[in-house]
Amino acid sequence: MSTDDSPILDVDALQQQGISAQDIAKLRTAGYATVLGVVQATRKCLTKVKGLSEIKVDKIKTAANTLCPQTFLTGAECALRREKVIFISTGSASLDALLGGGVQTGSITEVYGEFRTGKTQLSHTLCVTSQLPVDMGGGEGKVAFIDTEGTFRPDRVKSIAERFGVDPQAALENVVVARAHNSEHQMELITALAAKFAEEQGAYRLLIVDSILALFRIDYAGRGELSDRQQKLNQMLSRLTRISEEFQCAIFLTNQVQSSPDASAMFAGGDKKPAHASATRVYLRKGRGEERVAKLADSPDMPEGEATYKITVGGIMDA
Ligand code: ATP
Ligand code: MG
Repeated sequence: MSTDDSPILDVDALQQQGISAQDIAKLRTAGYATVLGVVQATRKCLTKVKGLSEIKVDKIKTAANTLCPQTFLTGAECALRREKVIFISTGSASLDALLGGGVQTGSITEVYGEFRTGKTQLSHTLCVTSQLPVDMGGGEGKVAFIDTEGTFRPDRVKSIAERFGVDPQAALENVVVARAHNSEHQMELITALAAKFAEEQGAYRLLIVDSILALFRIDYAGRGELSDRQQKLNQMLSRLTRISEEFQCAIFLTNQVQSSPDASAMFAGGDKKPAHASATRVYLRKGRGEERVAKLADSPDMPEGEATYKITVGGIMDA
């Protein structure tokens, strides 16, 4: 945690500490767009940046730590910081209540469940609610959407916008969407977004990855590749955690899991708890008729519980 809430410092600020423009350009190309991003990175990671020797990395680290000193906060200071967390509405009051108000900025929320439980519909609903005023359950910000399954639909955003009385065209203008083609590309897109978030300071309130694992399942299909897959996935999740803290935005991940015992046995050890880096985890399942049920599986600040919701033309709503 940094000690103050000064605005996000661009990596360019390292020049004040004697770091050359060329080295700063190298950092930026590798996805380190802010001083805090450099502070959060390990020396080992920074040494992997093309053209940065260990000696240079040491200098860069010292410069970054000087600009952005990392030290202890008092509990009271932490409480002040928590007050700045924004809760973005899911569209369903009961689901919001389960989450303590909605999807939180500054950390990762993951929803997982079977097909057709509403993970993609929830993602679309958040695309709109994130833009609403804070007193309407919004985050007054833009949204970045990484689509790994080709299921982003502008028309869905439009109908959801109409429900909330938002101009559909304006709602679409505030969402940037990228289709990820493979798991490496997915990581490249995340790196590019970090740079974008730094450029447009404070503009983005939400980053969605729908779904986090689909491409990893394709790229690391063999049994023997499970540990490679887990390693790459963990790197991505830790990158996402840092982005959520660096830019105080909410990260929303979806993840399809099979519910039948056979299927889970088949994927044993791989798929049951894949995105455990997520701070908040919500399990979604089908309920009676059109009803869907959300179960809070893991949360740093809310008790376990359940909520019901339904999928409508206007997005996620109370059942
Ligand atoms: P998967 O794991 O396959 O990606 P998912 O959890 O993302 O599934 P969604 O695509 O969010 O599932 O939800 C699909 C459900 O949303 C379907 O039951 C469909 O009937 C419903 N749905 C989609 N569009 C609309 C709409 N315009 N109006 C009402 N319901 C809709
Ligand atoms: Mg989906």
